[in-house]
Amino acid sequence: MQIYHFKCEGCGYESKLPLGSSDLDQILTDVNADYAEYRLYICKKEAKFVHADIHSRDFEGKCPADGSDLAEIKEMPPVRCPRCNQSKLVTEETKPVDHE
Ligand SMILES: [Zn+2]
Ligand SMILES: [Zn+2]
Repeated sequence: MQIYHFKCEGCGYESKLPLGSSDLDQILTDVNADYAEYRLYICKKEAKFVHADIHSRDFEGKCPADGSDLAEIKEMPPVRCPRCNQSKLVTEETKPVDHE
């Protein structure tokens, strides 16, 4: 899993979301409900990025906050800002901080 930090140089929109699948080693040794895969979506109603676990039983392609249909981002990293729709998005990828 990676932390994606999105920043729009046009309108100042900013969002930080963890995306990707949970640890691969964990999947191989321990196939259980902890397996998660977060993907990036746009909520058009709120004009922002949201992430969702596609393996979650509750997820049906709808925004958890308002129930509207989400549009999946298929190209990573995205260039278009969900808020102002300009192609001025800058993406930074970082590894999650190791807590050990
Ligand atoms: Zn913007
Ligand atoms: Zn929403």
